[in-house]
Amino acid sequence: MQLLKDKVAIVTGGSRGIGEAIVRKFAESGATIAFSYISDSSKERAEKIVSELSANGTNIKAYRSDAASFSDAETFINEVVKDFGRVDILVNNAGITRDTLMLRMTEQQWDEVIQTNLKSVFNMTKHILKIMLKQRSGSIINMSSVVGVFGNAGQANYAASKAGIFGFTKSIAKEVGSRNIRCNAIAPGFIETDMTHVLDEKTKEAFLKSIPLNRLGSGNEVADACIFLGSDMSTYVSGQTLSVCGALNC
Ligand code: NAP
Repeated sequence: MQLLKDKVAIVTGGSRGIGEAIVRKFAESGATIAFSYISDSSKERAEKIVSELSANGTNIKAYRSDAASFSDAETFINEVVKDFGRVDILVNNAGITRDTLMLRMTEQQWDEVIQTNLKSVFNMTKHILKIMLKQRSGSIINMSSVVGVFGNAGQANYAASKAGIFGFTKSIAKEVGSRNIRCNAIAPGFIETDMTHVLDEKTKEAFLKSIPLNRLGSGNEVADACIFLGSDMSTYVSGQTLSVCGALNC
């Protein structure tokens, strides 16, 4: 079903993992897509996604842009508006981990995670609101995590960044709801991507035992939740968190 037909979507961090799944599912749903990435090593991959999906008729472009940079976020959004004319959906998906126990955590590990996971959400939202306020419509989807709700040893920086997203999401929903702009968060559980591949087998087994659905989730399952929140299927849903976690910690 073309639930996103005629909608223009921005996805930060669309070159891999959950972001790539969102880009591919949004393409299937008929959206026009602008996505970002940051690493040199992802340039080729991003270009491959663009050429593959363009060949199937999707209007799509990849941009190299650091979501953690206020000025990059502004340039990125201005370029998208120049290229595609409007923005209906913003998915703030870009994120990183720098896991370690608090006693070993450096200031740099704290700052990098807060800048990339939380300040990026401010950066992108700040600039997109000018566009969405003019349009009098828009859906902002912020990728948080169940770790932001329950915490996790070794992830104090990550948990703090993801918990911050919840308060931000609810506040934005209240500030701009009267202009028909919605803002929601998604809280994935344990999803199979590069981010979780780096965990050792013991940690993965422990996680698995605590997931009632008895398996890890896929990027596609998170992307389906994004389609719901980005589409007109959710026009009265705002300020909410949708957990996609197989009942982990529920
Ligand atoms: P991933 O596989 O490591 O992919 C991360 C993506 O973010 C990549 O596309 C990366 O671009 C991009 N990125 C990183 N820093 C960026 C920056 N400063 N500016 C622009 N793009 C940047 O991670 P993932 O597992 O798909 O996670 C995606 C989101 O879901 C994150 O916010 C993560 O915290 C959240 N999440 C993941 C899980 C999980 O179990 N995987 C669970 C809960 C929440 P490059 O390719 O250029 O590096």
